[in-house]
Amino acid sequence: MKAPRFAYARPASVAEALALLDKHKDDARVLAGGQSLVPMLNFRVAAPKVLVDINRIAALSGIKVTKSHVRIGALTRHAELERSADIAKHLPLVAAAMPHVAHPAIRNRGTFGGSCALADPAAELPACALALGATFVVAGRKGERRIAAEDFFRGLYATALKAGELLVAAEFPLPKAGYASAFGELARRHGDYAMVGVAAYGSRKGGKFSDMRIAFFGVGDRPQRASAFEKALEGQSSVDGALAKLDADLAPRADLYSSAATKRHLAKVLAGRVLKELAA
Ligand SMILES: Cc1cc2nc3c(=O)[nH]c(=O)nc-3n(C[C@H](O)[C@H](O)[C@H](O)COP(=O)(O)OP(=O)(O)OC[C@H]3O[C@@H](n4cnc5c(N)ncnc54)[C@H](O)[C@@H]3O)c2cc1C
Repeated sequence: MKAPRFAYARPASVAEALALLDKHKDDARVLAGGQSLVPMLNFRVAAPKVLVDINRIAALSGIKVTKSHVRIGALTRHAELERSADIAKHLPLVAAAMPHVAHPAIRNRGTFGGSCALADPAAELPACALALGATFVVAGRKGERRIAAEDFFRGLYATALKAGELLVAAEFPLPKAGYASAFGELARRHGDYAMVGVAAYGSRKGGKFSDMRIAFFGVGDRPQRASAFEKALEGQSSVDGALAKLDADLAPRADLYSSAATKRHLAKVLAGRVLKELAA
């Protein structure tokens, strides 16, 4: 099938993009890498009247390291994150996740902001943002607002973005001394969305887990932290005793490929692996 008819605008600045989004509100859709939106148009799952192409807005691209955080522009391509020395150094969790995001051709076009704005519950980057305590920077006609990752993902393909708003960037706090991270996912084929995934970050000072932030993806309608599991890990040197607490945290739904019980089992196996890697 072909996409329904739409008008096309290619603003040169954030201000111009915001004016267009404000003018057309729910009739407009931002076009970033197009790797999800274009198939959605072709399948007629989405039928916006106006596409606002942000690809020429240089201010939305790039990775910047400050004294307190790493700022990733919304238009930064997955491939840039994958190859960035700054990401490898300061956000090794994101670096570990990137090879799992789709395939090289899609990573060349797909963007950080597109992935987070789409909010697929099985996507890697939203879970990394949650585990690392990132803050999303969102612009609207009335100015900017900042939204913690915890509050940004609202449900299945749903975020805190309002009509007329643009995701501009996310700020990831620099890792604390003595903290480590680890990432893992199980997918049917490499490059597929995850059946189950885990992004973990926390302290291993004195050989014990502390202050853990563990985000699961592919098991619910959004990336979600496992708070009972995190609490049970506090002060422990090994992960094994805490794994049973995942029953309280996760209520996976069956999907086309696996039952809820299979997903729960995979989540426990994967969490054990990822936390052992983090401890090592
Ligand atoms: C075969 C295939 C396999 C894939 N596998 C994976 C995978 O394993 N893991 C994974 O995470 N992703 C996967 N993807 C999706 C890919 O990562 C996309 O790049 C990503 O989901 C969307 O990014 P995009 O830049 O292409 O966004 P687009 O497709 O351009 O936009 C996606 C949505 O986000 C909105 N949007 C985009 N940017 C902004 C912004 N700055 N502000 C507000 N709204 C915005 C758009 O309006 C649209 O609704 C896969 C895609 C394909 C085609």
